[in-house]
Amino acid sequence: MGMRCEAGPARAPLACRLVLAAHMDDETLGLGAQIAAWTATGASVHVAFLTQGEPQDRRFYAAGADIHSYAARRRTEALLAAHALGLPSRNLHFADFPDLELSLHLDAAWEWLHRLSGRLRPRFIYAPAYEGGHPDHDALNLLASHLQASSTKISAWEYPLYTQCRGRVLYSSFPNRLGPVRILRPEASFRRRKCRALSCYISQRSTLQYFPMTEEKIRRLPRHDFKRPAVEPTVYELWGWPWRGSEFCAIWSRFQPADGQLP
Ligand SMILES: [Zn+2]
Repeated sequence: MGMRCEAGPARAPLACRLVLAAHMDDETLGLGAQIAAWTATGASVHVAFLTQGEPQDRRFYAAGADIHSYAARRRTEALLAAHALGLPSRNLHFADFPDLELSLHLDAAWEWLHRLSGRLRPRFIYAPAYEGGHPDHDALNLLASHLQASSTKISAWEYPLYTQCRGRVLYSSFPNRLGPVRILRPEASFRRRKCRALSCYISQRSTLQYFPMTEEKIRRLPRHDFKRPAVEPTVYELWGWPWRGSEFCAIWSRFQPADGQLP
């Protein structure tokens, strides 16, 4: 890692850190133990959830989920999980865009995120990796890249959730070698907090079991080529979802944020 790796999670404990999550659970799956470790040092950690976790099409709910008041239930789970990680509820921010449709709301999502960032002035932001796993994760990575470009004071990182290699879904692994990976191994007490936080996500129980719990990974946000899917086929194509990665890329590569530099 280059000269600025000291700006990563081990140092500057009091700098504001903003974890970006497309869905309620991304933050805990990707960085839960590290969030617990940061908050234990007194760092200012905020989590921004971009979607409300409720797909318009009920085929895309987590297996076995009780769909009654689904979005409200997921928000409650996020609040409980944050509590388990030591985060006060005032440090959670909900944009409430529709699940699976972040790419269709990029202008509004950018405006919301830009405003939040202007208020919090984060030194570090952490986004889901551009990995072809879920279109909302990739769309949020795109927004993070623009956020980084909007301020020289922001150091942007990405964390993996899921991708594919040779047709097999890989959890918590980057799909390529676009930069050194920092492996985070918070101590056992913080990993236990992560487990407790994940257990709060009852509606997502069927999918959480695949993620490793022993370590978390981040890397500096690379300059991704949003004209191409991160992997081909994407995981959602493998799963038979009704979109192609190239369709999202056409949207992402056209996106131009409206606002200028953050002060
Ligand atoms: Zn997600």
